[in-house]
Amino acid sequence: MAAETGDKETAKNSKSQVLAIGNAELTVVLGEKPSPAEKRVTELLAERIKDRAGVALAAQGDKAAFRLVIGKVASNERIKEFAATRKEVASLGSDGYVITVNMGNKEIHVAGQSDSGVVAGVGRLMREMRYQKGRVEVPSLDIAETPQMPNRGMYLWARKDFFGKPDQVDRYVEEFALWGCNGIALWFEMGMFKSFDDPEAKTWLDIYRRLYATAKSMGMKSGLLMVMNDAYNTSPTAMRIKPIIGCPDHYLCPNKPGSVEQMIAWQEQVFKALPQIDIFNLFPADPGGCSCPDCTPWPTRGFWRIAKPLADRIHETSPKTEIWVDTWHVNHPTFGGKDWQKLVASLDWTKERPKWFAGFEVGLAPHHGFARMSAEDRKVYNEAKQPLMVFPDISMWANHPGMLVNKEYWKSLQTEMNDYSPELMKGGWPYSERWNTDIASVMMLSWFWNPQKNVETVMDEYASFYFGPEAASARELLELLDDSNKDPQRKEKLRDKLAGLDGSLPEWVKRDWRWAEISESCRFRTR
Ligand SMILES: [Zn+2]
Repeated sequence: MAAETGDKETAKNSKSQVLAIGNAELTVVLGEKPSPAEKRVTELLAERIKDRAGVALAAQGDKAAFRLVIGKVASNERIKEFAATRKEVASLGSDGYVITVNMGNKEIHVAGQSDSGVVAGVGRLMREMRYQKGRVEVPSLDIAETPQMPNRGMYLWARKDFFGKPDQVDRYVEEFALWGCNGIALWFEMGMFKSFDDPEAKTWLDIYRRLYATAKSMGMKSGLLMVMNDAYNTSPTAMRIKPIIGCPDHYLCPNKPGSVEQMIAWQEQVFKALPQIDIFNLFPADPGGCSCPDCTPWPTRGFWRIAKPLADRIHETSPKTEIWVDTWHVNHPTFGGKDWQKLVASLDWTKERPKWFAGFEVGLAPHHGFARMSAEDRKVYNEAKQPLMVFPDISMWANHPGMLVNKEYWKSLQTEMNDYSPELMKGGWPYSERWNTDIASVMMLSWFWNPQKNVETVMDEYASFYFGPEAASARELLELLDDSNKDPQRKEKLRDKLAGLDGSLPEWVKRDWRWAEISESCRFRTR
């Protein structure tokens, strides 16, 4: 067995502290009818240990030395038996997981409360594993964790940086799920197309269907973001807006005859062309808006004139869809100064909350000229006592080539999110527009599980998972890449560290696109 074949130091530890699993020594035990998420996460685990350690799973039915039992009480009899002896399983909250490693009988259990919990649990197990040549080591574990927020999403911006590589984005969605993400949001941007029947629009809808299918198969939710007065770029001239900051002129003014009906029809067409949408986001501005007198102030007049009937229609079509009202950018003076406070305080100022209303999505963008919120703004939301989600700006603050690292900025996001009442905060959709926001994404996803988790701890986990035996050195490199690092010798140190790692990293690290992003960032920083 591999436990006895490792090098001396590891072998000594192995006996008491780790299971050392060699080639074809581990079998995965799923239930009789595993869910797609349970099957897929097993494949991802098999792929990862093969890629990193050259270790294959044991063939099904083999008498393997080690067993990994994966599933939910409802999907796997062995998990049901395990749960009978471990009361933590029954007390898990939504999407939680329990992981135990039993050194004595060489068994590992990952019990999830839901598919998303199973996937997050196996993801956590992968991060606890150590990948050596010819074996993986699993430490003694006894973990029970439940996320504090129910909507732990990622918003992927619809541009060619992502969607020019749909295969890679598919894998990325799965990787997010391993970090505990349970939702993907996309924006269907009508203005990119001539009409719904534009072949280009069909292509985008195909990509969206595919990404939503991937998300669903990992136990995730689907989110759709639509800008309220968006329009195809051939929209009727007579219905168009009076220009306003950040909004293309082909958008429609909801106060022109027939325009509200037209916008609802277009949006409904898109909604129905996609699979069941779990979370629908009504987006107000940037882009969006109209500066005509009838639409002003935008939050409670123009915006609401379309948002209310559209949401009513969506809810008739799909009563289970959660409908969230985003307030990004509406605190800009152009959009009516403090008018947004009226929207927040009473929605359609009839003092009657629509049945479909799930909550407000608030911008989390301390560096953004228009979308940033003051402490006073946050107080307005806290006093309104409606459920909240955040829309964090994780890239626009310093968009440059290669991986973005900025610990001070990240801490400011965390502090600001935690300034909202914890009982109101339900998660969010970090705005990810390129591959270089990967660490920031992991940071936000970690905080949706535990909003108090330390930035350093998350960076340690990231370095450990993606750099394996070189984690400590890679961690130092990330410190040097940190844009809040003021070390006067930063450039020289970056160059040295990059060259050193380039020579010592295992091949599996270099095959990962993350290494290319990090190298790119080092080159940019040492120019
Ligand atoms: Zn107007």
